[in-house]
Amino acid sequence: KLELADAKKWIDLFIEELKENKSNLNELDTAIGDGDHGTNMDRGASAVVESFAKKDPENLTDLYKATAFAMIQKVGGASGPLYGTAFLDMSKAVKEENLELGELVQVGTDGIKRRGQSDVGMKTMIDVWQPVSDALKAESLNQSVIDEALSKVKGLVATKGRASYLEEKSKGHIDPGAQSSAYLFESLIKVIG
Ligand code: ADP
Ligand code: MG
Ligand code: MG
Repeated sequence: KLELADAKKWIDLFIEELKENKSNLNELDTAIGDGDHGTNMDRGASAVVESFAKKDPENLTDLYKATAFAMIQKVGGASGPLYGTAFLDMSKAVKEENLELGELVQVGTDGIKRRGQSDVGMKTMIDVWQPVSDALKAESLNQSVIDEALSKVKGLVATKGRASYLEEKSKGHIDPGAQSSAYLFESLIKVIG
């Protein structure tokens, strides 16, 4: 279970990663989408920073809810509502006592699946969220879980989102949302070790 201080560190690190990797995410999205995923997530990251500055989250529910609202309001694109739903669902689930971190991230994953009408194997952010949820539940999350998820996603043909318009040509590229999700969970690894 992640306490408030560590969860805050997690989100802060994610924001840093998004800012540092804006152009990288845009490049990935240029290859199989419309080139804006880095710009979208960077805008969301700035909104999260602003939100925390305005009101320091007092508990886990506030923290995840503020993150969700910033993403929904400012990221835009397909990814904004998806990240937003994940964090919003997590903000509700975290009220339950004794909820393990793996179960919490699974709730976020399920939110993305519901909102996106999508599942594993469609070459989306879910192809990182689901293996990370599984690994957390098994207490075996490490960098190689993320690396393997990304290399797997690269070989997939997209069947959801903009990249699906490319059909077979989407193969051989890392999905931008999977990459931003990799930054999210690499940030988590830095916090939980
Ligand atoms: P847009 O495609 O509207 O420009 P972004 O570029 O910000 O939005 O986000 C694209 C990412 O969103 C994709 O790389 C993919 O990971 C994710 N995505 C898109 N549609 C779905 C969906 N239906 N389910 C899950 N993830 C999705
Ligand atoms: Mg895009
Ligand atoms: Mg777009």
